[in-house]
Order: sequence, then C-alpha cells, then structure tokens
Amino acid sequence: MGTGYEQLNPPPRLLMGPGPINADPRVLRAMSVGLVGQFDPVMADYMHETSQLYRQVFRTANEATVLVDGTSRAGIEAALVSLLEPGDRVLVPVFGRFGHLLAEIAGRAGAEVHTIHTEWGTVFAPEQIEDALRAVRPKVLAIVQGDTSTTMCQPLADLGALCREYGALFYADITASVGGNAFEMDAWGLDAATAGLQKCLGGPPGSAPISLSPAAVDVIRGRRHVEAGIREDEDLDAGRRIGSNYFDLAMILDYWGPRRLNHHTEAASMLYAARECARLLVAEGIEAAVERHRRHGAAMAAGVQALGLRLFGNQEHRMHNVLAVEIPEGVDGESVRRALLHDYGIEIGTSFGPLHGRVWRIGTMGYNARHDAVLLTLVALEEVLRRSGATPAAGAGVTAARELYDLVAVA
Ligand SMILES: *Cc1c(COP(=O)(O)O)cnc(C)c1O
Repeated sequence: MGTGYEQLNPPPRLLMGPGPINADPRVLRAMSVGLVGQFDPVMADYMHETSQLYRQVFRTANEATVLVDGTSRAGIEAALVSLLEPGDRVLVPVFGRFGHLLAEIAGRAGAEVHTIHTEWGTVFAPEQIEDALRAVRPKVLAIVQGDTSTTMCQPLADLGALCREYGALFYADITASVGGNAFEMDAWGLDAATAGLQKCLGGPPGSAPISLSPAAVDVIRGRRHVEAGIREDEDLDAGRRIGSNYFDLAMILDYWGPRRLNHHTEAASMLYAARECARLLVAEGIEAAVERHRRHGAAMAAGVQALGLRLFGNQEHRMHNVLAVEIPEGVDGESVRRALLHDYGIEIGTSFGPLHGRVWRIGTMGYNARHDAVLLTLVALEEVLRRSGATPAAGAGVTAARELYDLVAVA
C-alpha cells in the first residue's frame, strides 16, 4: 500500500554557505556500514581510534577526547554545564552570534555571565581580554575561535598564558574553524574545546568532538563529588543529582573510559562519520588541510572582489573558510540567493543580527574547498549578478581565481 510519500530524493546541491556543506562521499559511505552493539569489543576499538584521531585533529595529548552525540551546540552545552556551577563567574568575549550563544548557555547553567563586546567584523586584542580577566576573575573564559556570523577568527595563541595567570579555565568553540585554520589545543593552553563535523571537517551535522585537559577533567569530576557526594553507581540517590544527565561530561568520560559505564546508546552511525572525518583529515595532514582552506578561501575572495564586490570585516583576521560579501546597492540579496539555488543548485548564506540584509556569506570548506566548486560558484554568481542589475566585468571572477590557482589552461 502506498503512503503517499515519495522516497527521499533531494536535488543535487552545491552547499557554498557558512555550513553545513556537502559531506565527503567517503563519510557518507562510512555512515552506511553495519551497526554493532556499543559494548561489542569492535565498537570499543572504534571509539578508541576515534579518540586517538581527534587528539591529532585538536593537537592535544588529552586522554579525555571524546564525542558528544548531537550537533555542535551539544558539545558547547556539555562543556559549559559540566565546567560551571550555579554562581560561578564566566567571561565571554562576544564578537558575533556564537559568542551570544555561549553567554546564553552559560546563563542557563546558572553562571554569573560577564560579557565584553567588540564591533562585528573585528576581533579582540589580548589586552582587552586581559583587562576583563583581571576585573572579573572568572572561573572560565569561554570564547569562539571562528564565528561564522562575522567570518572573524579570534587569535587564541596568547590567551592560555593569560588564563593561567588569572586562574581561569580556557574554553573555545572551534566548530567553524578547526581543520581549516590553525588550532593548537596544548601549545595554546586550552582546557576545553568543542567542535562539530559540518564545517571544515567535511561531515554532516550530528556529532560534537570535545577535548578536555586534565585540569578541566579535575574540575568536572570534583564538581560531581560536591554535587552528588556519591559515585555514579546505579543505586545512588537520584534525588541528590542536579543539572543535565545527557550532557554530564563526568558520566560521558566514564562511558568512553576504561570502565565503560553505561550512559547513552552510542550514536554508532554518527561515530562512524566522525571517525572518517578525522581519519581523512589526519591522512591529508592538518597543515595541508589548513593550507587547502587558505588557498580556496583566497581564490574565492579574489574572485568576488574582481566581480566588483566588497568583503566585510577585517580581512587580516578572516577565517580561511568563509567570507562575508557586501550586497551591492540596488541588488536584492535574497533574490540573488534564490536564483543561485534555483538555476544552479548552489546555496550561499544569508546573515544575522547587525549584518542581516547587508552581506552574503560564502563558504569554501571541508569537501567543498575545491577549485571546481569555487570556479562554478563564481561563474554562477557573475551571471546572476548581471541579471540582478549589477555590472560585473565579464569573466573577471574566474580569471582572478584562476590566476591565484595558477591553473594551466586546458587546450
Ligand atoms: C556553525 C557553528 C556552530 C553550529 O552549531 P550547531 O549546533 O551544529 O548548529 C557552532 N558554533 C560555531 C562557532 C559555528 O560557527
């Protein structure tokens, strides 16, 4: 009997927005392999391998490197609700939409949230953050590395030493930046970092890699003893537990650790995806992947500028993998996006908050950080711009990008 619904058959799309992007076909294939039970020794091996691979991606020796099941926000929430207790002070420097998200989640955890702000399109100088650390004396500094809402990449290298000096734990949301921009968890002194698959890692949304320093693990485990006064055995007095169960990192670490204490059912297919994303990145080499993102981001930037468009924000601090392009006077930004999608199957991004209606966001990340994806997008954008009343120089976008690539002409 028919259901009235067709089998899923989405149209082919080239996703050139700020994420999600097209998943690497190898990641999609990894997701389709057979399930095994979560206490199968084979699954234990896969989890161990996944942890080892993400230590390489995050550049850390942290044993506490695991996955939180859920999109990137699940990783953010797990980190903040596990590190913070009600009344703890947290400092959140906000330079875009995701800084507001960190502050919002920390507030829900009952923390006393202190924010500092910088104009969208700029990043913080270390002195600004140091002044705030001195004034607030937070338990945690929580900051975004790459904020796709503004395309800015906040330098983090100097912040670890400042956090040590002022006794704060250092947490960063590296979802949008890791794999496409330099990131050094241990060398930069981070205590916690969380990510997602759907940006430079080339996977689908739905798994949040996280890594915790030994100091962060101590805080998380110490907190549980204080809160519960008891261990995590099945027969404990449930009424004495507070906060989240699903996002309790102490429990998640016990589940991933040698004791293998039951928590949630592992989202096996997402674990396969996350493992394959990291495996591909490590096989390519992290530096090579960062260079690939730099190169394709630079080609896209050169191309759109040659079409007469202006880039938004301080380009010295732009993420490699996404740019914000000012919508020219007299051009309807939404109708350009609609035409690109309808006529060419290409998606580019809109924008939020103060940038709403002012810029498009164009990504070159993960599987789509490729010259063919960049050139196709530039060809299509030129044609749609011309139809929308702009006057881009014919062929200028692809020519500029090709020059940057130094592509040899095909006879
Ligand atoms: C894209 C992005 C996310 C995405 O969060 P989801 O829960 O996966 O939607 C989180 N943080 C930053 C900085 C991002 O750019």
